[in-house]
Amino acid sequence: MLPSAGTSVHMAKVVIVGSGIAGLFAALKLEAAGHEVNVITKQRPQDSSTNWAQGGIAGILDKTDGEAMQSHINDTLLSGDGICDEVIVRCVVEEAGDRIRDLLAVGVDFEKEGEDFHLVKEGGHSERRILHAKDATGAEIERALNMAVAQSRNITMSSHTLGVDLIQRVHGVPKKGVKGIWCLCLDSGEMKAIPADAILIATGGCGHLWERTTNPSVSTGDGLAMAVRAGASNKNMAFFQFHPTALMSRNKTPFLITEALRGEGGVLLDDDGLINYRKGDDTPDKHSFTLEFSDLGSLATRDIVARACDQRMKVTGADNVWLITDHLDKEKLRNHFPNIESKLNEYNLSLGVDPIPVAPAAHYMVGGLSVDINARVLQNNADPIPGLYGIGEVACTGMHGANRLASNSLLEAIVFADRASRHFISNPINEGESVPNWRADGTHRLIEHAPLVRDLETLRKTMTDDVGIVRSFSRLNRAKRMLDLLETEVDLIWRKSIPTRELIELRNLVEVAKQITDDAMSRTENRGLHYNKDLI
Ligand SMILES: Cc1cc2nc3c(=O)[nH]c(=O)nc-3n(C[C@H](O)[C@H](O)[C@H](O)COP(=O)(O)OP(=O)(O)OC[C@H]3O[C@@H](n4cnc5c(N)ncnc54)[C@H](O)[C@@H]3O)c2cc1C
Repeated sequence: MLPSAGTSVHMAKVVIVGSGIAGLFAALKLEAAGHEVNVITKQRPQDSSTNWAQGGIAGILDKTDGEAMQSHINDTLLSGDGICDEVIVRCVVEEAGDRIRDLLAVGVDFEKEGEDFHLVKEGGHSERRILHAKDATGAEIERALNMAVAQSRNITMSSHTLGVDLIQRVHGVPKKGVKGIWCLCLDSGEMKAIPADAILIATGGCGHLWERTTNPSVSTGDGLAMAVRAGASNKNMAFFQFHPTALMSRNKTPFLITEALRGEGGVLLDDDGLINYRKGDDTPDKHSFTLEFSDLGSLATRDIVARACDQRMKVTGADNVWLITDHLDKEKLRNHFPNIESKLNEYNLSLGVDPIPVAPAAHYMVGGLSVDINARVLQNNADPIPGLYGIGEVACTGMHGANRLASNSLLEAIVFADRASRHFISNPINEGESVPNWRADGTHRLIEHAPLVRDLETLRKTMTDDVGIVRSFSRLNRAKRMLDLLETEVDLIWRKSIPTRELIELRNLVEVAKQITDDAMSRTENRGLHYNKDLI
């Protein structure tokens, strides 16, 4: 059991939507304080981005080491390109040690080197400060948290249950708060209304808006869209992070090659760079095109490296660039990155030997629901919506600014899951209100799913072509027109149909795409992950 985040006199009923690191961590904190928690999750409990996280979790365990903490703060601020909320960054870095110890308390087994933790470095970090479980850190965290949840008495896990819309206390009046959630039971196809004194949205990101993404299929922006429909504000949506090194394959969800591999010395080359490297006696870094974009070369922050890869592929017409590891210690690599090694073997590639073909893929939602320092979801970017919290990737706390520093997201998720829990425990709502059933009058079972499939393809193509790594006003305007049309089409189907997973996700993806495009169009400067060539 996790140490309690406080004690509570009332036993309230809390619904958490999502079973990644944020949702599970908060569930354990709330149950430790005596609350009844229902975690609803779209697929199996472990299906989440968390489960796929490779590199690790950044954080300083020793709270007395002010210098190390300041260095983590500085790197985060630098990566965020001038718009991180410094108060939030300091708070997350200072609380990191206690929250990572919470993970250790539930049995997360981070890699050790003797008595100490083995620490790694990734792009944008000036020091080794990332704890990891080889190259499958997220799976280890999910394993330990899910096991603790399964053993707890007051947490119910409702898997294959899809949150559809929030139930407001007074319909259309966000300031009155929320009192439940309508869900679709994917096994029975039935809608049900679940009452709640508080709702924690922990639904992760929305990588499936683009044709190539590192995200699992559950990442379709549902939580963001449903909160926005209930009056929540969002911010910084234009900042969507593309990971520079996803394995080039026909797969829509390409396998991620963790940045930690570049932290250990992996270097990015284009076709010419590879030829020149093979001809001479130099180390590969001398030939990297990334040096034209930053002195840090392949280890610059993700925004810079992803843009460098995108630009180089556009100039040369190649489908990918190459990640070189043949100059590194093979044994060490294979010991540290066993999952990457076995995945590469499936493609007849060998770590430490072959050039690895990589290209950028949609990875992380930096913007999100506008929340305060206690993870309360805000309306008008100012007033909290009573009973509604946003934690993990779905929320925009201000920590990441315009570009997330590698391995800071798992950390941010646990710090804010704890803060949300503590806030609710000290300010419990215990109304036990009844909730209305889903109104299904005049709706019919959806017979043809083909139009939804086509609309989804159009949506992903639009986002890939027009709202990708490099943007322009004309392309953004084109996307806007297409999204308006898609919204109209989806709305027509929505009004007439009993919801299905495909329909719900498409409706949410279109909503989130509009928020991203609108924010991108409104920006008058290039910063971090937002790059509009008309603004150069
Ligand atoms: C391949 C990959 C590698 C990564 N590596 C790292 C790393 O090394 N370090 C790092 O810090 N970050 C990493 N990240 C990012 C990090 O993993 C995520 O930001 C983080 O795990 C998000 O946690 P979360 O709890 O907010 O969401 P998730 O872990 O994505 O969980 C979301 C949950 O919500 C559920 N859900 C979604 N919609 C609904 C709905 N409508 N109803 C019910 N349930 C729903 C999902 O099923 C899932 O259980 C990586 C991400 C990916 C994809």
